[in-house]
Amino acid sequence: MAFTLEVMTSFSQPTIKNYLIATIRSFGIKAVVHQKKNKIICAFESSHEKLQECLETIASTLPASCFMTQSQHYDVEGEPEGIPDFEVEYPSALGLCPTCQKEMFDPSSRRYYYPFTQCAHCGGQYAFFEHYPFERSNTALKYVKPCENCEDESHTLGRREKQVLNSCHTCGIPVRLIHKDKERYANDAGSFRTMFEVAAKALRDGKTLLMKTTMGYRLFQRSDKPSPASVLMLVNASKITDYCSLINDEFNALLSIERPVLHVALKDQALIDTFGSTMDVKYPDEGFSILLAKELTLLELDYIVYEVVDTPYDADFVMDYDLNINHQSDMRLFINKEVRFIASGERVAFPSRLPYGTDTLSIAHGLVGIKDNKGMLFDQMDRFSSASTLKVNQLETEMPAVESANFHTIAEDEASFMSVIAEHNKFGTKAVGAYFQGEPSFLYYDGKKVIRVVPPKRFEGSGIIESMRGLREGSDRLIANIETNHPELYHVLVQIEQNNLSLFEATAMILGLREVSFEGVMKEGLKFIGKGGLQIDTKVADNRFNHVAFLSSIISYRLAGVDSVYLSYSIFESFGDYFSELLTEIKGKTKAEDIVLCGSYFAGQSLFSRLQRNLKSVSVLMNMSYPIGKENCVVGGVFL
Ligand SMILES: [Zn+2]
Ligand SMILES: [Zn+2]
Repeated sequence: MAFTLEVMTSFSQPTIKNYLIATIRSFGIKAVVHQKKNKIICAFESSHEKLQECLETIASTLPASCFMTQSQHYDVEGEPEGIPDFEVEYPSALGLCPTCQKEMFDPSSRRYYYPFTQCAHCGGQYAFFEHYPFERSNTALKYVKPCENCEDESHTLGRREKQVLNSCHTCGIPVRLIHKDKERYANDAGSFRTMFEVAAKALRDGKTLLMKTTMGYRLFQRSDKPSPASVLMLVNASKITDYCSLINDEFNALLSIERPVLHVALKDQALIDTFGSTMDVKYPDEGFSILLAKELTLLELDYIVYEVVDTPYDADFVMDYDLNINHQSDMRLFINKEVRFIASGERVAFPSRLPYGTDTLSIAHGLVGIKDNKGMLFDQMDRFSSASTLKVNQLETEMPAVESANFHTIAEDEASFMSVIAEHNKFGTKAVGAYFQGEPSFLYYDGKKVIRVVPPKRFEGSGIIESMRGLREGSDRLIANIETNHPELYHVLVQIEQNNLSLFEATAMILGLREVSFEGVMKEGLKFIGKGGLQIDTKVADNRFNHVAFLSSIISYRLAGVDSVYLSYSIFESFGDYFSELLTEIKGKTKAEDIVLCGSYFAGQSLFSRLQRNLKSVSVLMNMSYPIGKENCVVGGVFL
């Protein structure tokens, strides 16, 4: 009999599986560990005397993933025949595992206050990765020779076995803190601790700090001016719920090994007065941020604001070191009841593997998909030195990145849609889908190829006032009324005419929002507490979304005195009805089995809740291990 542990997760990255294997190996227990579509299964040699101890170690040290839901155990027939093994194929960019975090705060360890602390399965590794294959000589640490202890560790069973970027105070990377013409160096436990203390005090005193972390550059400050790019870093876990209204799943996700950015409701009145009622929040993830957070907590600060900057930026204090780093956009997680998916970002989702593919080289948003003997490998283009291929697919909006006699362009919505079919391995079946990021479009997959049923229609501001006049009977009087009695609103329409805006930028302007973007309208809608919105015109005319009718409808409600919060909420509710009605209709006509939702605009609470409600009896597919928009195009591009 084999004792079997099952961990439910829909996420395909091997982090948790590899951590389990590393732990099992360190106990010398025979086991078989498999990762399937929605779970990881470990079957252990039941008779091993250390099995109980091994299971207890797993329970106390296994990092919690935000994609893990539950676990169970049972016995199965048969006995595993060997010790399991794992491979570190590419670097990760995750928070620290509980054991590494503990080590960094243990004064007796070799890594007390060492910000590059990580193991084979955790921490910010990707920033130092130059190109494949992932080995030390191909990283920024190629000239940092590991000391004997570190060298030994990476060849010893345990969580640092096979670690590529292992280092400690003895062999590690000195860091400097620059303030005006003064430089302070840190190269041992004492000097690192002082450095983080000085940095935290500077922040407390209102200074800015640019920190080169193992996840890229972050500009920290005690900001009182909100910017759409600001993220609130909650540095004290026990105080998080004093500042934010979180459901349990959101709290657990914040502290998970993926350490995602979440958009949540604020609770603290001072924060609401400064930043509005909702905000992006994050819990400290990698070594530098965790050490800074610790020192801020000692100064009784519970949060700090930061912005991601992709190049060095002028600040009062700069924490820097002599290694080149590369940048990945951060992962934003969306949670709505029991549903969770990646709204956007490269971190955590990339690099990644799909075990099947084609001979097509796919290129989109700086990412590529390359076929090798294990399937497809997806990563930033710069990480690969070469690729041989039969066919190239690249997004139609981009400059061709390679020369090929067999070069093809692909559309964003079609690639995004196809990535969902590919991830769920639904090749050969029928599916209908909606794409929503920029302009809505509707797609159909007949088992072989993707067909646009309702193509996206680019929003054109020019001529909009004339089109509104001619929309229907009485529309000309509406516009005349605006021109005479609401000059400010008329001025907005003139601006929409003259500037090259997106549909949601125009919408935000008509609503009079400060943040003129899709996010601005979404955040405004989130402020609505209550049920039932107004019906906004989302009709299709000539098989296309009718922008003029949509905006005219919003203007009419504005003139009737409806406030921007209720209107924003209503816009998403109406879009929810629009998508579900059209999808259901096309599904009926085509006899498709599944409905696909893709595009990052679906990561909005009002819209998603409405769709959940309307489509609850239908099979809805979305990306599981990839972001739902933009970054998923590279995956779909392989199969177009
Ligand atoms: Zn670790
Ligand atoms: Zn060392």
